Amino acid sequence: MPSLYNMPIQKLDKIGPKKAEQFRKIGADSVGELLRVYPRAYEDWSKPLTIVQGADKDICCIKARIERVHTPVRIRSNMIIYRVAVTDDESYMTITFFNQRYTVENLKVGSEYLFYGTVRKNFDGYEMSAPAVESTEKSNIHPIYSQSGMLTSRQIENAVQQAVRLLPEKINDTIPQGVREKYDICSLDYAIRNIHFPESMDAAGISGKYFAFEELLILQLGILMLKSGRKTATPYRLEHEYTKEFLKLLPFRPTNAQMRAIKECTDDMLYNDKPMNRLIQGDVGSGKTAVAAAVCYTAVKNGLQCAFMVPTEILAQQHFEELSGMFESMGIRTAILTGSVKASRKKMINALLKAGEIDIVIGTHALITDNVEFRELGLVVTDEQHRFGVAQRAALISKGKSPHIMVMSATPIPRTLALMIFGDMELSVLDELPPGRQKVDTYFVDSSKRERIYNFIKKHILGGNRCYIVCPLVEKSESELISAEEYIERLKKSVLSDCRMAVLHGKMKASEKERIMKEFSEGELDILVATTVIEVGINVPSATVMLIENADRFGLSQLHQLRGRVGRGKAKSYCILVSDIRNPVSIERLNVMCRTNDGFEIADEDLRLRGPGDFFGSRQHGLPELKTAHLSDMVLVEATRAAAAEILSSDPRLELKEHAALRFETRRLFSAFRADDTPLFSALP
Ligand code: ADP
Ligand code: MG
Repeated sequence: MPSLYNMPIQKLDKIGPKKAEQFRKIGADSVGELLRVYPRAYEDWSKPLTIVQGADKDICCIKARIERVHTPVRIRSNMIIYRVAVTDDESYMTITFFNQRYTVENLKVGSEYLFYGTVRKNFDGYEMSAPAVESTEKSNIHPIYSQSGMLTSRQIENAVQQAVRLLPEKINDTIPQGVREKYDICSLDYAIRNIHFPESMDAAGISGKYFAFEELLILQLGILMLKSGRKTATPYRLEHEYTKEFLKLLPFRPTNAQMRAIKECTDDMLYNDKPMNRLIQGDVGSGKTAVAAAVCYTAVKNGLQCAFMVPTEILAQQHFEELSGMFESMGIRTAILTGSVKASRKKMINALLKAGEIDIVIGTHALITDNVEFRELGLVVTDEQHRFGVAQRAALISKGKSPHIMVMSATPIPRTLALMIFGDMELSVLDELPPGRQKVDTYFVDSSKRERIYNFIKKHILGGNRCYIVCPLVEKSESELISAEEYIERLKKSVLSDCRMAVLHGKMKASEKERIMKEFSEGELDILVATTVIEVGINVPSATVMLIENADRFGLSQLHQLRGRVGRGKAKSYCILVSDIRNPVSIERLNVMCRTNDGFEIADEDLRLRGPGDFFGSRQHGLPELKTAHLSDMVLVEATRAAAAEILSSDPRLELKEHAALRFETRRLFSAFRADDTPLFSALP
């Protein structure tokens, strides 16, 4: 097929420069690319029904003979209605067309036609409104392409029909034969013909499987090649490991999972020629900070500087206090750099970083501004990485000469998916929580229970504990949702009126947020009414109740993160989800939260219920949008990963003749991603 990628779309009949421009917009510059614009659905005209059979279906194809064409009726200056009576010799049906003079005038009384539309039964018989019409020879399956601009599905179909005729006699399969046999996949020749003009609906399904498999296989190959293609030798190979020494500073015993993750990181830095590039995945509360601290400690002891980037000021402050407290006694110099640090102080910190007189700097995006320079940036840690785009990560990394990289994620996702999304990284999983953690009991209630919930909260506060209330919005808005600020007013009129409370939201000044968080964690406030700013990493062990209003507004993984803010101390904790939603899927999602505290299980459910698009947010994962495959199809994701690994084990650079087509498509796809400026893929060989 490669030659068809060199044939401009204008070579096809009826496509001039203007049309060609529209085809370019759907990604079809060439005839080859056009063949890879797949239909989004099909209309099955191959098994026409009788009128009575059709009345049971949503939409279908009916075969019927024209009985009579009624006189057209003009109902407005721009609207003429045509009525046509048809029969299948069993029943009669009236078909209505609007302004379709040409269609109607071509119908011959006494001849049979196919009508594709919806049959409705009313008091005096059957009717169908504005169906598509074809002659009876056109009894096959029609592809439906996504309409785009001025380009109709039918126009795309006509072009594709020509393109299919240009296909060479022999098409080299992209998926190698051995793989096709193993996973029961048809040939590319069959697939490309049947995805557009299927012999049967089964054939369309079989062809769809080819392209979904091919798409994921290519993605997996690209990612694996990227991983093995990383050649830069590290300038920061470590000499010794100092974990034992570090553990003496730690106020608790690490879990086995933490120990394993720390060792995997230090091993990467001690024994590998390439810089570490590792993802630490662990549920909320699994103790990722301690792992990062241990790894930083070893790096600093080996003479390197570390940068620790977190998504919010509050979190930066919290991490800073924790780490500087531990490290200062060992003579390790720490600093915090966030947007709210005064300019004069920033200048000083920058100077110290450049001179190598700060060992660990903890900060927000402020770390990636231009004037931050390091003397010897050897380790970059990013926490809660789902909050950072790939580009921001890359910006921080570029401050050093191939530093070691450690990324921490609290979005637990299935392993295979993680390997794909963080494709070029190694993976450590913290699959164990520190001992003594209790399950946060979770309840889903409607708003009529609010009084009872407030009484419940009151009891906790009288017992010396604290409560979070989460609202989806900050300010008053047009919607029916109540904002955090209005919410406080409501609380002041409730049984909680004498509690000490404050609002916390993302639009507040950093210093203000910090003051409130401090008051809350030190027990000067009882209730914190907040937006999702508290979702990320905040640690207040005496908070035991979390009330989430309009809980249906949040994704499952986000609810899980929010819930992770309670249950961090010794006391039993509760999470109450309030929602009046009636949509069954939303109800099912909230029930998942009540059923389990396991982040991996929740992520799986979220993936299943919402699909990966919503799950990861707007392409933050840096993967290209898939045309046919779904990342939530774990069976296919795993099969293609295994297949990709097998192919590369015998042919690491896809140089064998039988992999030529695969190599061609892989390069073609990855060069398209490159145009997105996605650093993850820019290094592909
Ligand atoms: P996360 O993985 O969500 O970032 P943190 O690193 O914030 O988790 O840890 C959550 C809490 O658990 C912190 O208060 C931390 O001090 C504590 N912690 C971490 N590891 C252990 C451990 N092994 N034993 C006891 N407590 C721990
Ligand atoms: Mg954390």
